[in-house]
Formats: sequence, C-alpha cells, structure tokens
Amino acid sequence: MTLPENEHYATIVVGSGPAGVLAALHAAERGSVLIVDASSLPRDKSCGGMLHHLSLETLRPYGEVPESIISMPRTVNFRYHDWDRGIRKVTTLEFLNVSRAGFDEWMLGLLPANVEVVAKASLTGFVQDDERVTASIDFDGNPAEITADLLIGCDGARSQVRRTLDIRDSASYVTLQDFVTISSPIEPYFDCIYMRGIGDEFGYAYVVPKGDVALIGSVFYPHTKRPWEKQDRVVSLLRERIPQLGEKVHRESAAALYLRSPDDMLPGHGRVLLAGEAGGFMSPSSGEGISYALRTGRDAGLAAAGDPAAALDRYLELTGPIRADIRRRFRWLPFMESRAGKYLAGFVPAPIISRVTQGL
Ligand SMILES: Cc1cc2nc3c(=O)[nH]c(=O)nc-3n(C[C@H](O)[C@H](O)[C@H](O)COP(=O)(O)OP(=O)(O)OC[C@H]3O[C@@H](n4cnc5c(N)ncnc54)[C@H](O)[C@@H]3O)c2cc1C
Repeated sequence: MTLPENEHYATIVVGSGPAGVLAALHAAERGSVLIVDASSLPRDKSCGGMLHHLSLETLRPYGEVPESIISMPRTVNFRYHDWDRGIRKVTTLEFLNVSRAGFDEWMLGLLPANVEVVAKASLTGFVQDDERVTASIDFDGNPAEITADLLIGCDGARSQVRRTLDIRDSASYVTLQDFVTISSPIEPYFDCIYMRGIGDEFGYAYVVPKGDVALIGSVFYPHTKRPWEKQDRVVSLLRERIPQLGEKVHRESAAALYLRSPDDMLPGHGRVLLAGEAGGFMSPSSGEGISYALRTGRDAGLAAAGDPAAALDRYLELTGPIRADIRRRFRWLPFMESRAGKYLAGFVPAPIISRVTQGL
C-alpha cells in the first residue's frame, strides 16, 4: 500500500486519464501535485482508441505519440452505415488508431518529478473553504484526509467530485466492447452502424480493426435491460455480413457520459475545478472524448498554475471556446438521434456527411 508523502499539496488531481495527466503536468508549475486514481495503474480503460486530429494537435507540445502504441491499420476513416437500407457513406474524417492502454501509460510517463501518483486511492468526498480543500481519500482501505490549495476532478463519467459538488446525478450510456479474432484483414475503416432491429435502446455499433483482432462496440441508452444479450445479437448480425469476424476473445463494459443539455457542463465551484468527462466535456453527438479531456485538463492545469483564488475564473476564460463548441453540437443532437434524422442521413451526399462529421 502507498500513502502520499505530504499532508498538504498545492493541487490534488482526482483521476489519471488524459484530463488528469495534463491537469497535473501544468499545475505542477506552481508546486507539489498529488494524483489519486481508484484503479490500479497502468490502467486499461474500455475505449475505441481512436485519436481525432484535435487530440493529436493538443498532444504535439508534449511529444510525438510513440509508434509502439499505434495499432494496424495506423489510420481509419469514419464510415457511416444504415445497415437495413444498405447505405454506406465513406467520409474524410480520419483517426489515428492506438492501443488505449498504451496511450494512457505513455501519458503517465509525461509527468514531472513533483507529481506524486498514487493508485488504488479513491476520493470519497471533500469540503472546501476560502483557503483550501480537504479531501477524504481511501488509500486501498486506509482512509485519510489530505489538504490542497485546489482540487481538480478528472474522475470521468461517474465522477465523485462532481457528485459531491452537485447532487444531480448525471446519466450514463452503457457500452459493451467485444474483441474478436479475424480470419483475414477487414476493411480499414471506423465503421459506425445504425440498425433498427436491435430495439429503441440501441444507439449504434462500431467496428474497428485493431491489429490481428477486430473491435465490435455498441452504445446503449441509459437503463437498457440485458445489454449483453443485445450485444450478442449485434455481433451475430455483423458476422453474417463480415465473414472474417471470428470468435470473441474478450468482452468489456463501461459507462460513457450521457449529455442532454449544455447545463450538463459543470466547470467547478470555488477551489474545485472539473475537467474531461467529469465536467461534462465531450462531444454529445459523436461520443469522442479524448480531445475534450486533453484540452480541458490542460486548461484546468494552466489555471491551477496561477493564483489559486482566481483559478476558476481563469479556467472559465480558457474553456470559453470549448464550451461554445459543445453548445453548438447540442443543436444537432435531437435531429441526429431521431428516426427521421437517421433516415434522411441516407440521402445526404458523402462529401456533405464528411463535412458535417468533421464538426461533430
Ligand atoms: C466504450 C468507449 C469507447 C470510447 N472510444 C473513444 C474513442 O475511440 N476516442 C475518443 O476520443 N473517446 C472515446 N471514448 C471516450 C473517452 O474514453 C473518454 O472521454 C476519456 O477517456 C475521458 O477522459 P477523462 O480523463 O475525462 O476520464 P477517464 O479517462 O475516464 O479517467 C478517469 C479516471 O478517474 C478514476 N476515478 C474515477 N473515480 C475516482 C475516484 N472516486 N477517486 C479516484 N479516481 C477515480 C478512474 O479510475 C479513471 O482512471 C470512449 C468511451 C467509451 C466508454
């Protein structure tokens, strides 16, 4: 069991995903930083591992994404399918195809020496006043109170930091991912598939080649009953049309943020900032979240590097463009999720789908 070295830190960061790492890296310019993560590290987060160009641009100042974490094919273009109508639209939206576990481990390696990382340490709550935040943290069964000038919650879709600040619980999509063997290479696309037969609780499925396996994921709306049975049905339907898809080698499930309105964004309160999914920062229309986690994590860290009393105001200023971008995406959401929207998408020419998806 590891306990932190100090009782007081300049900043405590909760969560060591992409938001947490960049928040800690910049916050460390002002002083000592403690990152606590409830998982064992390096972690293995359920994810498609697709890096959007905004993720790559945000990462550039910190170093090149290492070749060793890139999966084959290196890049995949987004392709939209309306399965029942046999409609397929290839877009120019391209993603770098990486191992998410490798990516998270590489990011942890970017942290400077004055950032202390403690795994299997869960934040259970906190109180704050005008001077400091006192965090209650369970260090692998040993509860302790640690203080800091600031606390940054980067603890993902089911954020405890957010729930402590705002008692309204946010809803989550249920996601399932199966890794299956392939008898020969499948086409080099990030296929996003809409099918009517799975039921109204089904959002969409996706297929991505990942080296010598393929990833088949499905997104289900909150409170879906028996999602694993629906995922079995998705996989068997896909196998009928993509005969290379073989046996399941691994299945995982996760929660992903279900954003309903711009009010679901919560940048923080007092001396507590929220970044990444914890703050409601991800694309409500496409589910792409890494670029938002990186950018809001970086901005929270930059804000924390200055006067702690002014950190929230600075963070609001820095994240103004990102919040405006998310608000704009909400305008598309009701139409995109409606049956009519999905039907009409089949008639839109591929170059227009390409342009629209670049903005989603
Ligand atoms: C199935 C799936 C596929 C996805 N595919 C993609 C994709 O291909 N591309 C993309 O851009 N986005 C994708 N996303 C979204 C993306 O994974 C997230 O948006 C991104 O990881 C958010 O980063 P984050 O740093 O905010 O939080 P996370 O990466 O979720 O990290 C949060 C961390 O906080 C820790 N934590 C939680 N609670 C506590 C606590 N109480 N105390 C301490 N630590 C805690 C967790 O252990 C975790 O390590 C996908 C999501 C899902 C579910």
